[in-house]
Amino acid sequence: MKYLDQIDVSGKKVLVRVDFNVPMDKSGNVTDDTRVKASLATINYIREKGARVIVTSHLGRPKGKRVEEFSLKPVAPILASLLKKDVLFVDDCIGEKALQAVANMKAGDVILLENLRYYPGEDKNDDAFAQELAKLCDVYINDAFAVSHRAAASNTAITKFVPVCAAGFLLKNEIEYFNKAMGNPARPLVAIIGGAKVSDKIKVLENVIDKVDRLIVGGGMAFTFLKAQGLNVGKSLCETEMLDLARKIMEKAKQKNVQFLLPVDVVIAKATVADAETKVVAVKDIPDEWMGLDIGPATIAAFSDAVKTAKTIVWNGPLGMFELAPFSSGTFKLVDAVVASGALTIVGGGDTDTAIHKTGKSDKISYISTGGGAFLELLEGKTLPAVAALG
Ligand code: AMP
Repeated sequence: MKYLDQIDVSGKKVLVRVDFNVPMDKSGNVTDDTRVKASLATINYIREKGARVIVTSHLGRPKGKRVEEFSLKPVAPILASLLKKDVLFVDDCIGEKALQAVANMKAGDVILLENLRYYPGEDKNDDAFAQELAKLCDVYINDAFAVSHRAAASNTAITKFVPVCAAGFLLKNEIEYFNKAMGNPARPLVAIIGGAKVSDKIKVLENVIDKVDRLIVGGGMAFTFLKAQGLNVGKSLCETEMLDLARKIMEKAKQKNVQFLLPVDVVIAKATVADAETKVVAVKDIPDEWMGLDIGPATIAAFSDAVKTAKTIVWNGPLGMFELAPFSSGTFKLVDAVVASGALTIVGGGDTDTAIHKTGKSDKISYISTGGGAFLELLEGKTLPAVAALG
């Protein structure tokens, strides 16, 4: 696979697949421009080479039809103000309108095409639709990591029809940081896996157990493991159909000499509300009517100790129901411990990202992935189809 800085784009027509799937309010205003900002390094580099930049993305799920609320039009002025340059919005992503707009471009110009998902061929990874996109350019750049785990015409089939294809700087960063953490990491390598369900992360657990020195399991999913050890978990989240798999994972950890850390105490409540009555109890003392919603202080101390000597940390999933204040301190205190460790730290997954932003310490984390599902699939040990297509 080539990266953008390894190919010659000077004077070329370059189609850049970005992820401008930005959040919008009911009036169609963009409420967070993080994803647009994340594309700037790639777009500016191409512009500075005197190339024409044709930016293309999806937004929401219009399911193959033109649906106004999913138009990318409101993103064009945001991109323009960040680039400090006019950006022409073209209200189609293929066909005569798009071809004409490209033909009118001058060196360094940037245009933004309408939502790729207005066409059913996009999500179907359809060759005919990909060929229409390919007609617009001489060079194709993929910089949309967050959708790289789903083969679509604009990230997979298109690579068959454009002679020069490469990864942009955002995709490059994602791949390089991930490989640094999970490929040949500085050790000890510690994984922190939290979140709601074991069933969502079972493949992640099975894969990381082969690679890490220590595995910390917190969040709702920890209760399935505690139950598998014979403890009563009250009304805590627990997937009884996962008990055997949980036992297998703990067995594998033992065989592989991987330190496996579960909560030793928990913050419990009877209701998931911000003013709930809470108690801290040892994991063996959870009463029937109560549920564990955060890790307790002894667990925070043990988990913090386990990351202290880490050289590399990979983190996916919060350690408690951090959205509610009484159950947030486990996740927030672990952020402090991770930052204090000075380890190379890679964080991925929407909720973990949100939790870290709430602490105001995101800039102290080595890398926060821009892809939830794509990051999870990397952690599962999978090859992402859109990345493979660039190879
Ligand atoms: P995930 O998307 O699997 O990473 O799960 C994230 C969600 O897990 C967050 O919304 C948390 O509120 C939730 N969560 C974390 N710990 C617990 C817990 N102990 N009980 C219930 N939900 C939890």
